[in-house]
Amino acid sequence: MVIDKLPHTEGDWEVVQKPTLIKTGLKVKKCTICGEVLEEKVIPANTTLLYIIISSGVAVLVIIALGIITYKRKH
Ligand SMILES: [Zn+2]
Repeated sequence: MVIDKLPHTEGDWEVVQKPTLIKTGLKVKKCTICGEVLEEKVIPANTTLLYIIISSGVAVLVIIALGIITYKRKH
């Protein structure tokens, strides 16, 4: 007698690895009954924050450069 396999019960997405500024993360969807991983998804790296850091760094450099130019013009 063959027992029919019951369909898995999809659980919520579970973050296995949190994404960082440069590395991607990973989330999985497990079956709530047997715990088998049914689906895997890569979480993109948190580049938004990286862009903010880079752009603010550039902004600071521009301000410094402008400051030097104005200082030299006045003296
Ligand atoms: Zn299952």
